[in-house]
Amino acid sequence: MRTIKILDTTLRDGEQTPGVSFTPEEKLKIAISLDEFGVDVIEAGSAITSPGEQESIRRIANEGLRAEISSYSRILKSDIDVTMKCDVDSIFLVTPTSRLHIKYKLGTTQGELLEKTLDCIDYCKDHGLIVDLCAEDGTRTEPEFLLRLMKEATEHKIDRYTIADTVGTAIPERIHEIFSILGKEAKIPLGVHCHDDLGMATANTVVAVNAGVSMVNVTVNGIGERAGNAPLEEVIMALKEGYGYNFRIKTEEILKLSKMVEKLCRIPVAPNKAIVGGNAFTHEAGIHVDGILKRSETYEAIKPESVGARRRFVLGKHVGTKSVRKMLEDDGIKANEQELREILKHIKYMGDKGKRVTNVDLQAIANSVRGVKIKRAIELDELVAVAGNKFTPIASVKLKIKDREVMESSTGTGPVDAAIKAIEHATRDLPFELTEYHVDSISGGTDAVVQVMVELKSKDRVITAQGAGTDIILASVNALVNGINLITGK
Ligand code: MN
Repeated sequence: MRTIKILDTTLRDGEQTPGVSFTPEEKLKIAISLDEFGVDVIEAGSAITSPGEQESIRRIANEGLRAEISSYSRILKSDIDVTMKCDVDSIFLVTPTSRLHIKYKLGTTQGELLEKTLDCIDYCKDHGLIVDLCAEDGTRTEPEFLLRLMKEATEHKIDRYTIADTVGTAIPERIHEIFSILGKEAKIPLGVHCHDDLGMATANTVVAVNAGVSMVNVTVNGIGERAGNAPLEEVIMALKEGYGYNFRIKTEEILKLSKMVEKLCRIPVAPNKAIVGGNAFTHEAGIHVDGILKRSETYEAIKPESVGARRRFVLGKHVGTKSVRKMLEDDGIKANEQELREILKHIKYMGDKGKRVTNVDLQAIANSVRGVKIKRAIELDELVAVAGNKFTPIASVKLKIKDREVMESSTGTGPVDAAIKAIEHATRDLPFELTEYHVDSISGGTDAVVQVMVELKSKDRVITAQGAGTDIILASVNALVNGINLITGK
C-alpha cells in the first residue's frame, strides 16, 4: 500500500481554536514533538499574524528539524515577503476558489483571481520556496475551475495542490467526485484539508486518500476553528487499520502527543473521543470485560498499546463477577464465590446511586464483606496550607507512616499543588507515582462538595482513589493518602 504523508497544522489552524494561543516556547516544544513523531510537514503558523508569530516560526524553522517547515500565506506579496523572512522551507499559499468567496469575500472574478494566484506562485518559486497551493473553500468550487487552476499552477511549478473543505460542508461523495476528477490529470501530489462541522472530517479525509490524495492535513486532537480539523490520531489509525496504508510515524507515540497538546492548549479531550479519549480503552460492562480477558479483539477495535494507551477496567453498576474477581486478585485479595457476590452487590448499589467506585472503594468493600480489618500504613495527622497574593503558596503535613511521624513542607503553584508535593516528599521512599489528578464539583456554589480522583502507578499496577468534601485541599490530600495506602499496602 502507498505511504501517506502528514501535514500537521496544529500550530496554525489548531491555534485558531477559539481561546487557544501558544507561547513561542510552547510552539517550539510542540514542533519538536511532531518532528520526533514523524510528521512530514509542520505548518508552524501564519507569519502575517504578528511579530511574535514570526519569531515563533523562525525559531522552529531554524531548529534543524527533519520535517519541512511551512507557513500559511494569503495570495498577497506583502504576506509572502513576511513569510520568507521566517526562513521556512515551504509556503501554504491559500487562494479562495468558490464563487461565494471570490465574489463576496474578494469582490473579484475567477479570471482575475487566477492571474493573481499564478503571479504569487511565480514570486514564491523565484525565491526558492516549496509551494503547496491550497484552494480555499475548494469543496464548494466547480471541479472544472479546480482542474483549470491545478493545470495552470502546475505549469507555474507548484509542488503540491491541496483542496480545503474550509467550512466543513462536504460529504464523502463530493470529496470522492472532486479528487477523482483531479486525480486523473494531476502531475503533482494532491493534499486534502478537512473540517469537522458536520462530523465528516475523518471520513472525508479517508475518502480523499482512497481517491488518490497523498498528503493529509490534520491537527492533534482535532483542534481547530469552530468544530475543528481532521484529527491526526483518527486519520492515521483509520487509514492504517482500516485500509492498510503506511505512515512514517510511530503510532505508539500518539497518546503522548495528544496529552501534550491537550495540556498546552488547555482544552480537555472528551472522554469519548476516538483513539485518545480517556474512555477509548476503558471497560466497565461485565460481558465486555469477560470477552476481553479471553481475547481483546472481542471488544476493542485496535490494540491500546498501538497508540501508547492502556486498557482499563472500571467498576460501576454494569460490572460482572469475572472483572471484580480479576481486580481483587490484582489487589492480592482472594474472595470466595459468596463473598464475591456480596461485593458485587455493594458495587452495583453504589453504581445505582450514581457513585464512581475506585480501587480503594473496592478494597474497603471487600474488607468489610470479608470482615478483614486492615491497619492503614499511612495516616494524615496534620495539614496546613497557606496561599495568598503576596507570597508563594506553601503547605506542611504531618503523616504517620507505619507509626513513625514524618513532617514535610513544600511550596507549589497553588495550595493544592504545595500540599500534594509535601505528601510526595514525606513518602519519597515509597514506590509510587501520581499519574493523574482530576477535580469535579458535585454541586454548584462556593460551598460545593468537590470530588477529587487520583490515579497512582507503581510498576505495572495502576489504581484509582478519591477524596471528597467542601475543602479542596483536604479532599486532594485524602485522595492521595487513600491511594498510597492501597498501592503500597500489598
Ligand atoms: Mn482550515
